[in-house]
Amino acid sequence: MPDIIQLLPDNIANQIAAGEVIQRPSSAVKELLENAVDAGADEIRLLINDAGKALVQVIDNGQGMSETDARMAFERHATSKIKNIDDLFRIRTMGFRGEALASIAAVAQVELKTRRSEDEAGIYLEIENSVVRKQEPVAMSVGTSIAMKNLFFNVPARRNFLKTNASELRHIVDEFIRVAMSFPDIFFSLESNGQQVFHLEKGSLKQRIVQILGNSYNAKLVSVQEQTDYMNVFGFVGKPETAKKTRGDQYLFVNNRFIKSAYLNHAVMNAFAEMIPKDSFPMYALFIDLDPSQLDINVHPTKQEIKFEDEKIVYAFVQSAVKHALAQFSVTPTLDFDLDASIQSLDAVSKPFTSDKQSSAASSSLFNTFTKKNQSHFIESRSELKHWKDFYEKETPQQEQSGQQAPIPTLTPENQRLQNGPVFQLNNSFIVLPTRQGYLLIHQQNAHERILYERFNKAVAGKPIATQQSLFPATMELSPADAVLLTELIPDLNLLGYQLEPFGNNSFVIQGTPADVEQGNEKTAIERLLDQYKHFSNDLKFNKREKLLRALTLQQSVKAGVVLSEKELQSLTAELFQCATPNITANGKPTYLEFYKEELDKLFGK
Ligand code: ADP
Ligand code: MG
Repeated sequence: MPDIIQLLPDNIANQIAAGEVIQRPSSAVKELLENAVDAGADEIRLLINDAGKALVQVIDNGQGMSETDARMAFERHATSKIKNIDDLFRIRTMGFRGEALASIAAVAQVELKTRRSEDEAGIYLEIENSVVRKQEPVAMSVGTSIAMKNLFFNVPARRNFLKTNASELRHIVDEFIRVAMSFPDIFFSLESNGQQVFHLEKGSLKQRIVQILGNSYNAKLVSVQEQTDYMNVFGFVGKPETAKKTRGDQYLFVNNRFIKSAYLNHAVMNAFAEMIPKDSFPMYALFIDLDPSQLDINVHPTKQEIKFEDEKIVYAFVQSAVKHALAQFSVTPTLDFDLDASIQSLDAVSKPFTSDKQSSAASSSLFNTFTKKNQSHFIESRSELKHWKDFYEKETPQQEQSGQQAPIPTLTPENQRLQNGPVFQLNNSFIVLPTRQGYLLIHQQNAHERILYERFNKAVAGKPIATQQSLFPATMELSPADAVLLTELIPDLNLLGYQLEPFGNNSFVIQGTPADVEQGNEKTAIERLLDQYKHFSNDLKFNKREKLLRALTLQQSVKAGVVLSEKELQSLTAELFQCATPNITANGKPTYLEFYKEELDKLFGK
C-alpha cells in the first residue's frame, strides 16, 4: 500500500480556513467595520449591493497602510495588533488574529485602496483566489477602502447556502448596528443598492441609540452608570413602559465588543423584575468595561460568547447598576398616558422603587395576575380540586399528552350542540355551549386563534384574503431594522389582505388592510404584528411564513376579557367546528373542554 497522506494545496486550505471566519456577507461586514474602527477612523461608510452577495465595501478615513503592509494584510496570521503572547492579555482592538482579510481574499474578489497621510499617493490592489492580480498607485485621500465582490464566486456550494436577499440584508443590518452602537463618536452610514439605510452623525451614546432604535425611545431611556476599580458599567435601559414582547432591542458589550450572554441578560432582567409584566423584554444597551486580563478573549472571533475571570462579580455588578438606575428614575415617577393601564397601576411602576415597595408589589394581587400562567396550572396546584383534573384527563387524555398531534375528536351526535340551544359568555372569557350530554366550555381566545390560523393558512395557500382599500392611505416610518424586516414580509402580507408598499427612507404606505382591521388602526396593527413576529424570530422551529401566520393569529385573535355579542358568540362557535382541527390551537393548547352531565352528577355525589 502506498502512503496516502498529502498536504492540502494552499488555495484549498485557505478556503477551508476562510469558512470559519466568513460564513455570509454579514461576517465580512463585521470584520471590515472592525478593521476601520481599529484603524482610528472617525468616518466609516458601508456600501452593499445585492445584500452583500455582489458587493460589500467599507470606506474609512483611518490611518491607511504602507505598500508592504497592504500586501501583507492578506496573508494568514498577518496582524499589526499583537506582537507577542503577552499582548493577548492587553487586547484593546477589535481584531488581533490576522485572519479576516486572508479569509475574504480566499473566497471573493477584493479591491483595496489605501493611503497613509505621510504618503503622496495611495496604492491599489486587486486580489482573487488569494493572489494579487494587479497593483498600481492611485490618487486618493487618506484612509482605506476595501471592496469584497462576488462572495463565494469560487465556492459555488457555499454560495448556494446563502439565504434570500432580505434575510442576508437583515444579518448585515444587525452587524452594522452592533458596531455603530458601540462607537457613537464615529460617523457611520449604510447604503444598500444605492439607497441610504442609515446615516448616523457623531454624537452621544443616547443620540446614537435613538438614531438606531427609533424616536420612540427619546425621553424613555434611563442612564446607567456605575464605576469601580474593578469594572465600569454604563449605557441605557428603557423605562419599564417601553418593554416589548420581543427580545429584539437588547445589546450588551464588553470592552466595546458585542456579546451574547444569557447569564448577564438574566442579571438585567432580574433588575427589572416586578417592574414589567412577565414575558416582556426591556430595551437595554449596556457597556461593560474591564481590564482585558479579566477576560478570556481567546474564544473564536465569530463566536459572541465570552469568558470572565469572575462571572459572579460581573453578574452582581450589572444587576445592581441597573437596579440603582431604575430606582433613581422612579423616585419621581413620570408616567405616560399611553402606558398600558394594567402595567401603570402596578405598585412597582407607579410608586418610588424601594425594597419595601418591591416586596409589597410582588404580593399585590395585580402582580399575581401577571405571574399566574393560566387557569389549568392554577387548578392543578390545588389539591382539593384534584378530581377535576382526573375528570379532565379521563375525558380528553389525548389533548394533555400529545399536544399538537392530538387526534381530532369527532363531535358525536350525543355531544353535538343542541339545535338552536342557548350559547352564552362567561367571565367575558369563555363560551358555554350546552350539548346533549352536558356542555362544552370554549376558551374564546384559543378558539379564535384556531379559526384565524386555519384561515390564514388557506390564504397563503392560494385563497387570498380580500383587501379593503383605505380611503386615506396611511404612511408609517419604521426603524431601519424593522423596515428591512417588513420588506421581507410584504409578499405574504399581500396574500393576507395587507396592501403595503415601500416608500423609501424606511417608510411604507398602507393602501389597504383585511376587512376586519378597523380603519384608522392600520399602523398600530402592523407595528404590533412586527413586534409579535420578532418575538418568534429566534425560534428556529418555524420558517418565516409560519412565524408570520402565528404572529398574525396571536395579534388578531379576540382576547379574554372582551365582551362578545350573541351574534359573535354564534359565529365563533360555528366557525370553530368547521375547522379541520377544532380542538387545539397551533401551539397545542386546548380550545375547549367537554363536560358530561353524568360526570357532573358524580361530582355532586348523585
Ligand atoms: P486583524 O484585524 O485581526 O489584525 P485582519 O485580517 O482583519 O486582521 O487585518 C490584517 C491587518 O491589516 C490589520 O492588523 C491591519 O494592520 C491591516 N488593516 C486591515 N484593515 C485596515 C484598515 N481599514 N485600515 C488600516 N489597516 C488595516
Ligand atoms: Mg480585523
